[in-house]
Amino acid sequence: MTLQGRMMAFPLTIQHLLARARTLFPETPIVSRRPDKSVVRSNWGTVANRAEQLTRGLRSLGIGPGDRVATLCWNHHEHLEAYLGIPSLGAIVHTLNLRLSPQDLTYIVGHAEDKAIIVDQSLLPLFSKFRDALPSGAPVIVVRDLGAPLTDPAFQDYESVLAPAEAVPAPFAYPSVFAAADENAAAMLCYTSGTTGNPKGVLTSHRAIVLHAFALALRDSFGIASDDVVLPVVPMFHASSWGLPYAAALVGASIAFPGPHLDAVSLLDWMHAEKVTFAGGVPTIWIGILDALDRAKAAGEAKWDLSLLRNMIIGGSAAPPSLMDGFLIRHGLKVTHAWGMTELNPLGTVATVTPAIASQGEAAVASARASQGIPSPFVEMRHVDDAGTVLPWDGVAMGELECRGPWVASSYFRDEGQDRFTADGFFKTGDVVTIDRHGYMRITDRSKDVVKSGGEWISSVALENSLMAHPAVLEAAVFAGREEKWGERPLAAVAFKEGQAATDEELAAHLAASFPKYWLPDAYIRVAQVPRGSTGKFLKTKLREDYGDLLLKK
Ligand code: AMP
Repeated sequence: MTLQGRMMAFPLTIQHLLARARTLFPETPIVSRRPDKSVVRSNWGTVANRAEQLTRGLRSLGIGPGDRVATLCWNHHEHLEAYLGIPSLGAIVHTLNLRLSPQDLTYIVGHAEDKAIIVDQSLLPLFSKFRDALPSGAPVIVVRDLGAPLTDPAFQDYESVLAPAEAVPAPFAYPSVFAAADENAAAMLCYTSGTTGNPKGVLTSHRAIVLHAFALALRDSFGIASDDVVLPVVPMFHASSWGLPYAAALVGASIAFPGPHLDAVSLLDWMHAEKVTFAGGVPTIWIGILDALDRAKAAGEAKWDLSLLRNMIIGGSAAPPSLMDGFLIRHGLKVTHAWGMTELNPLGTVATVTPAIASQGEAAVASARASQGIPSPFVEMRHVDDAGTVLPWDGVAMGELECRGPWVASSYFRDEGQDRFTADGFFKTGDVVTIDRHGYMRITDRSKDVVKSGGEWISSVALENSLMAHPAVLEAAVFAGREEKWGERPLAAVAFKEGQAATDEELAAHLAASFPKYWLPDAYIRVAQVPRGSTGKFLKTKLREDYGDLLLKK
C-alpha cells in the first residue's frame, strides 16, 4: 500500500484569493475607466471587502451554491468583485460575451439557466434584447457606469445589492457565508465562441482557476508579480480575461482596467497614465497599437512613455512575426506569443526562449518566439494524424493538437460535444500543428480554416504572416475560396496602412520569395478592415460567406 504524505488536504479556492488580497495587499491600486473616460480609483482591500458584501447581498436575493449568475460587463472593478464574490458563495460567475448577437445570448442564458444578471448600465440596450431569456423576477443588478439614475423599477442598483460591511475581518477570514470548501466545485462558466454549431459551456472549477493563476505567475510564463500594473485588454467576458484578474489577486499585482476604451490611442494613453508594466490582448489590438506608435514616431512625437512596460502578451490568434519584430526593433518593446483556448481556461503554451534555444543563435530564437510556445507546467500535449496515430515531435509532422491537464475541460456543460474528447482522456483542440523536438508548438491552421487545393494543404497562417510583413499591409487574412478545378484556392483579404497601397503583382512577388507558386492566393481583396469576430479575432467565416464563391463567378 502507498504510504500517504502527511500534508493537509487544503482546498484551492477563490475564497482564499479574496482573503489573501484583502489581508496582504489592501493598498494596491485597482483602477477602472468608465465610458466617459472618468477614472475610479479603488484598491485590493476595498475590492475584496465589496466582493464579500456582494456574496452576502446575492445570498439575500436567494442566490445559492450551484446557481449561475451572469455578467454582461466591460473590464472594471465591479466585474472583478463579481469574479471573486460570486464563486465565494459557491455560485458560478457566468460571463456573457457582449459582442455576441442577441440570438446567441438568448440561447446561452437559457442553456445556462442563469438565475440573475449583473449588467453595465451602458449595456442595457443590448440586455433589453435578450432579457426574456432570464426567468421572470430574476434579479437584474445594474452597475451604474453611466452615473444616470435607473429608470426601470425592476432594476436594482449594484451598490444597493452590496450588503452592509461587517466588522474588520480577521486575517485570511473567508466571506461569512462561505460554506463549501470543495476545490472541484464549479466557479465560472464561459461559452465558446462557437463559429460552428451552438456555443458550448466550459465549466471551470476553483482548483483549475487557482492552479492556472500560479502558472501565470511563473517567470517563464507571464511572470505576474506584486510590482506589476496589469492591463487586461482581453475582455473579462472572454476566457476570464486569460485568468489575469485571478493571477493579480494571487500575487497582489495592481490592475488598470480599460473599460470600453479599446482603440489604440485610448489604450496607449491609459498605459502611459497608469504606468502599465504588463498587458495582454489579441493581435488585432496590437496591430493597431503598433501602427499608432509608428505614426507617432514618424511625426516626431513622443506622446507616450512606455518605459515601464516589461511585456505584452499576444494570443488568441496567430501573432505575425512582423508585429513582434516591429515592437521590438522600432520601439524596444518586448512582446511574447502565447496560445490558449476557452477549454484550457485558457493558457496552454507560452513562447518563452529556453537556454537550449538561445544557444542555437538568432534564427532559432526568432523561430521560437514566433511559435505558439512550449506547454505550461502540467499541460500535456500531443498531435495526431487523421487515423489518430500520435505523431513525432520533429517539427515537420502535422496533425491535430490534443491536450490534457488540471485546467483542461474534461467535458462540456450538459455533456455536449462528446466527440471533442478522446477515450484516453485528451481534449481535441481542432488546431493543426507541428511540435519540434524542444516542445515548441506551431499552429499551421485551425482545422476548419485549412485551405486544401488539389489535395495539397496550404497554411493560411503562414501566408498571412508573410503578407503582414509587407510594409504597406496593416492586416491580412487568407481563407479558402471554392474553385472548380482544385476544389479550393487561397484568397487574401488585405487592409493597407493609411496612405499606402500595393498592387496584386507586388503582393504576389512578395509572397513568391517564400512560398511555392501554387500557394499564392488567386485574388487579393481590398478591405478597409478585416472583419472581426466576437473576441476580436479575424472572422474567416464572414470572408468565406462574402467572397468564397469569387472564383466560381469569374
Ligand atoms: P477561444 O477559445 O475563443 O479563445 O479560441 C481558441 C482558438 O484560438 C484556438 O483553438 C486557436 O485556434 C486560436 N488561437 C489562440 N491563440 C492562438 C495563437 N497564439 N496562435 C494561433 N491561434 C491561436
